[in-house]
Formats: sequence, C-alpha cells, structure tokens
Amino acid sequence: MNTKDNYAGLDIFRISAALLVVAIHTSPLALWSAEADSFLTRVLARVAVPFFFMVTGQFVATGIYILHPAMIVVVRGIAKVSRISVLIENSFLHYSCVAMLSVAAAFIAAICLQYLQQRRRQPFRKDRTWIEIDRAALQKNVEFFRKRLPENCRLMPAIKANAYGHGAVLIAKELSRMGVDSFCVACIQEGIELRRAGIGGEILVLGYTHPSGFAELRKYHLSQTVIDYSYAEQLNAYGKKITVHIAIDTGMHRLGERCENVEEICKIIRMRHLVVKGIFTHLSADDRKDGREKEFTEQQASGFYAVLEEMKKRGIPCPPNHLQASYGVLNYPELAGDYARVGIALYGVLSTKEDTLEWKDKLFPVLSLKTRVASIKEIHPGETAGYGLAFVTDRNIKAAVLAIGYADGFPRALSNGQGAVLIRGVKAPVIGTVCMDQTIVDVSGIPDVQPGDTAVVIGKSGGLEITASDLAEQAGTITNEILSRIGARPERNICCS
Ligand SMILES: *Cc1c(COP(=O)(O)O)cnc(C)c1O
Repeated sequence: MNTKDNYAGLDIFRISAALLVVAIHTSPLALWSAEADSFLTRVLARVAVPFFFMVTGQFVATGIYILHPAMIVVVRGIAKVSRISVLIENSFLHYSCVAMLSVAAAFIAAICLQYLQQRRRQPFRKDRTWIEIDRAALQKNVEFFRKRLPENCRLMPAIKANAYGHGAVLIAKELSRMGVDSFCVACIQEGIELRRAGIGGEILVLGYTHPSGFAELRKYHLSQTVIDYSYAEQLNAYGKKITVHIAIDTGMHRLGERCENVEEICKIIRMRHLVVKGIFTHLSADDRKDGREKEFTEQQASGFYAVLEEMKKRGIPCPPNHLQASYGVLNYPELAGDYARVGIALYGVLSTKEDTLEWKDKLFPVLSLKTRVASIKEIHPGETAGYGLAFVTDRNIKAAVLAIGYADGFPRALSNGQGAVLIRGVKAPVIGTVCMDQTIVDVSGIPDVQPGDTAVVIGKSGGLEITASDLAEQAGTITNEILSRIGARPERNICCS
C-alpha cells in the first residue's frame, strides 16, 4: 500500500478531503471570523466527509483521518507542557499543527505498514518455472504508442487472457502507474479479478456476458460490449443503468451489430437504461498494409465512419469511438479514434516472427519464461527418450530434463527437434515429445550443465534470444496463442533489470 499504488489524480483530492475532516474538529478560522469558520466546518468540511469515504482506500488520507484525534491530544499536550498556549488559542495555528502532525504520522504509518507487508509477502518462487516481467520494456512500449497516437487518443490496453499470459493484475498495476486508466478484457470474470485487486479506471468487457452477470457488471463498474441489437434489448430490459460500448460489425462478422443497420444502432443509443460510453469496430485484416487486406481495412473503416456520420445527421451525439488494435495502430495510424485497444504489441512482440523482427527496434519483449534443469543423464545408442518411442538415439548423448511441460505453456508441437531452449547461452534442442510437466533436451554440446541450472524458454541467454514469435513459428501458430496459453503454474514477477 504504497502511495504510488493509487491513481495520481485522486491523491491530492483524498488528502484534501481528509484535511477538511481535521478542520471539523479544530475550527481553523474561528478566531478570524465565526461565520467563515462555520461555513468551513459545517458546510464545506461536512460535504467532504461522504466524498472522502467514497474515495477512501488511499492509505495516507485514511491515516490522517484515523490519527488526527490523537494529534489533537498531542498538540494540547505540547501546548500545556511547553506553556505555548497560542498553539491552541490561535485557531488557525492549532489547525495547522494538528494537520501537519496528522500528515506526518500518516506517512510514517504508511511506510511502516508497507515494510511489514513486504516482509510478509512470499518470496518470488524461481524453483521450477517462472516468468519475469521487464517493467522498463513495458514502459518503452507504452511510450512508443503514446508517441505514435495523437494526443487525444487514449490507450485501452487489452489485458484479456491473463494479459496474454503476463499476469493481468501485475500488468494492470504497472500500466496504472504509467497513467493508463482504461483497459479491455474478454469476459466478466477477468474484469472482476482486476477490480478485486484494486484496479481503477474503465474496464470494458469485449465479449458476451450472460444476463445472470448483469448485476455484477453494475457492482464492479464494468462496461459491457453491446454485441448486437437483440443483446442491447436484453441489457436494456434489465431495467437498471449499465455502461456500454456498442460494437459495430464492419466485415469480420464476429461480434457487433451490422454497420448497414443504422436504424437499429441509433435505437440502441436511445435505449433508456444504456449509458453509451463508446462505439467501436474491430479490423480483421489490418496485419497487412497492402493488397486486398488494405482495401478491406479501408472498407471496414468507411463502413464504421458512415455509421458515425449518419448519427451526426440525425442529431444523435457520437460517443467516443475506437477501431484500432495493435496492427491498426502500426499499419493504419490515420484510423486513430478516441481509444486504441492495443494488445499483443504492448507486450513487445507481434503475431508473426517476421512482423516482430520488423518492429524489434521500437517494441521490446516484456516477458521471459524460464525453467530449471531438473536432472542430467547419459542416453546410449539405441535407447529412447520420452513417451511413445518417438525418439531413439544412434549415439551417446547427454540429456537434460527440464521442469516445464505443455501444461506450463510449452507447446507439444515443439517435440523432437521442433523447438529448443537456451542453457548457458547455448541452444539445446528438444528430444522426444514434450510431456505435461517435463521436457527433455539435448545438452551434449554444452559443457558443465548442472541440475538447477536455468533454461531460458522465452528470453535472452548469453548473446542469444528466443522470442515468443520464434516459438509460434516453430509450433505453427501465432505469438498471441503461445503467450495466452502459458499456464497458471509459473509465478510472475517484475524483474529489476
Ligand atoms: C483482443 C482484442 C484486441 C487486442 O488485439 P491485439 O491484436 O492483441 O492488439 C482489440 N480489440 C478486440 C475486440 C479484441 O478482441
């Protein structure tokens, strides 16, 4: 509970509210003017109290509130002992002393509490398989996007699927510190997890929420995507205000009301119980900026803009709009709206190896996946390794068993030489089939390998690097799938590089 854990804009407000609460009990202006003091302590400060409780949770402000009665006693005591009666006789001086002491005491209490919490926190487990998050890389990627997008376009990072395997709460906290205040997730559970972890700002649920979840949308202040007209009717029928963004289908034919149905879209905007905070579409071929894909993307954009135009013509106020995901910002910067829903690129990689290489000087991989060498053994000519007799050696090899398997997110498609890891800066190819919890690699060419050594699955070792996009290429898929399927077992933590 560091003061930095909270959102910059609110801190001053919370502390001011807490100081107004102190004023109620010390009447700072009493000596100067009874009317002014009564206005301050009976009107202003009393209004501040409910506000204060609405935004409470910020420790320093709460600390001021809790500790100020004690500080009143302390100031009285000091005045008595030192016979400086002006300390309590001059009402403003009295208030100032109490306020300053309360702030100081609250800061000291916050620091002590933080220290105790740090001591209680379990150490980061690096005993089997773990993930290191590079905060500096994330920061650079955020800055890259902020520079690339126009001033009035806000980042709304996609932190669905556990932030593409990086750890949703961890990433959301880091992004919040970097000033990001809007996020999108795939489903309501992901939104609730973030709220329970204290993440503020807007959280948009991009996917379907069954009506049984509507109450929770309200309870956790989540925004819901209107996935089509009939869904809008269901949301509205709930009968209580729900915040929404309207999805427009401009050619992907996944979620969204068809852009041709302007009549229905306008009706959605007018629905009584929907608080429309956004309207968006999703581009389905923006990973290329030429040929048919370019034509298609432009067609999608013009279909979307036509909806906004038509709304304007009918005098319906346009909610904030957004079209771009990662590739949209990179390949079609002119389509910037009020938000950009960047996902994969914010994690420093792109869907394919080719694209990742193209942007490697601008975007920096955030995640490293590491594991331990559990055991080392010799395997002799004619012997097998792993399940199903899939690997037979014709020579003497030194094999290392790694404490990672497909349940941790190391794809089974990387079996038998398709994939490799880095140990002591050298490549060690997979032999046999990847198991659920273990993988065997050939370390014949690596001297001095010891049980307990670190093996890098994604990340750097020596002068070599394996990116998630390398794994994707080897496994015949895209980086997004590799990252989002990393399992729940590896612990995630910020690394201090
Ligand atoms: C996942 C998703 C995004 C983020 O996509 P990236 O390609 O990872 O940037 C944006 N919008 C929608 C609707 C999504 O489902």
